[in-house]
Amino acid sequence: MTGRTATGAATGRAVVLEEFGKPLSLRRFPLPGPPAGGMVVACGYGGVCGTDLHLCQGHLDIPVPLVLGHEGLGVVRELGPGAQLDAAGTPLAAGDTVMWASSISCGVCPPCRLHREPTLCERRRTYGVNRALTDGPELSGAWADHIVLQPGTTVIKVPEGTDPLAAMSLACAGPTVAHALYERRPVRLGETVVVQGSGPVGLAAAAFAHLAGAAKVVIVGGPAGRLERAAEAGIGDVHLDIAGAADPAAVLREARSAVGGDGADLVIECAGVPAAVGQGLALARRGGSYLVIGQYTDAGDTAVNPHQIVHRQLDVVGSWAFTGAHLVEYVRLLPALTGRFDLAGLVTPFPLERHSEALDAVADGSVIKAVLTS
Ligand SMILES: [Zn+2]
Ligand SMILES: [Zn+2]
Repeated sequence: MTGRTATGAATGRAVVLEEFGKPLSLRRFPLPGPPAGGMVVACGYGGVCGTDLHLCQGHLDIPVPLVLGHEGLGVVRELGPGAQLDAAGTPLAAGDTVMWASSISCGVCPPCRLHREPTLCERRRTYGVNRALTDGPELSGAWADHIVLQPGTTVIKVPEGTDPLAAMSLACAGPTVAHALYERRPVRLGETVVVQGSGPVGLAAAAFAHLAGAAKVVIVGGPAGRLERAAEAGIGDVHLDIAGAADPAAVLREARSAVGGDGADLVIECAGVPAAVGQGLALARRGGSYLVIGQYTDAGDTAVNPHQIVHRQLDVVGSWAFTGAHLVEYVRLLPALTGRFDLAGLVTPFPLERHSEALDAVADGSVIKAVLTS
C-alpha cells in the first residue's frame, strides 16, 4: 500500500533490522523514482528464509540498519529509462508480475572475472542483506510494500496464471537447488536419491529430482508435520522422520533399505546441521555422489569417517548460493513444478505488520515457508 506524506509525496513501508537481537520495526520511507536501468516494484510478497533468522541474530557480518527481505515477487510500478526487457529478453511494462534475483555480482573480482563462478563473487550486493539504509535508497529489501531494483538486477516475468504463493514457496531454495543440480551434480534419469532435510531447500531438491526422472526419492527429515505437508504436496516417495526418532541409526538403515540396501546413487544434504554430513556419507552407494547444499551458515565442526569417502569412492560436491541465471531457470520450471506439486500448500502467508510472528514460526519450525504479504 502506497502512503502519502503531508506534502503528498509517495512513501512505502518496510521492515527494518535496526540492531542485532532486537525487535524489528516497520517504518515508512520516501518512495523514489526508478533509477536508470532499474525499476520500482510494488512488492506484494517477501519470503522469510532461515538465513533471515541468522541475519537478525547477527550471525553474519552485515551493515545495520537495513530493510530485510532477499526473496520477492511483485508488480512493476515504474521502469527506469533503459529497463525495457526482462532477463529472458521479454518486453517489460508497468503492471507485469516479476521476480528478481537477490544478488548482483561485481563482474571484476577473481571469481567473477577469472574463475567463471559469479556465485562466489567477493563483492556481491544483496537486497535485504548488505544494502544498508544509509547507502540509499532505503527501500532495498523485499519485506516492504515497494522495492527499488538497481540496474544489473536479474528480473524475470512470472508465467501468467502462476499462483504467487506457489512461486514464493521455493523462492530462494529453488534457485539454490537449480545451481546445485544444473552445475554441480545433476540428478540422472532413473537414479535413486536420498534428500536430507525437509525445509524448503530439501523439498526443492526432492521436487527437482522427481522432475529430473529419479526412480525414487527418499526424504529423511522432520519434524513429522513437515514430512506430512511434503507428502500432501506430492514431494518425495518415502518420508522418514529422523528429527523425532529415538534411534536415528534405525532411520538411516531404513533410508538405505528404501533405496535398495546399498545406498543411493545421489544423496543431497539440505539439513544445515553439521551432524547430517557424517550420516549422509554412509547413505550413498559405492561410486555414488554426495551433494552438500544445506551448510549455508557455519554451524561448526562435526565428526565424519573419511574412510567412507575413499571406500565408497564418493564424489563429494559442495554448492554455494545462486546467480540470476538460476532464478530464471527456477521461474521457467514453475509451470512444471506447479503442475505436479502443490507448492502453494507449503506456504503460510503473514501480513507485513505481523513480521515478528512469521519469523517466530520459521524459527520454531511450525511452518515450512512463511511469506510476508502487503
Ligand atoms: Zn533465502
Ligand atoms: Zn565479483
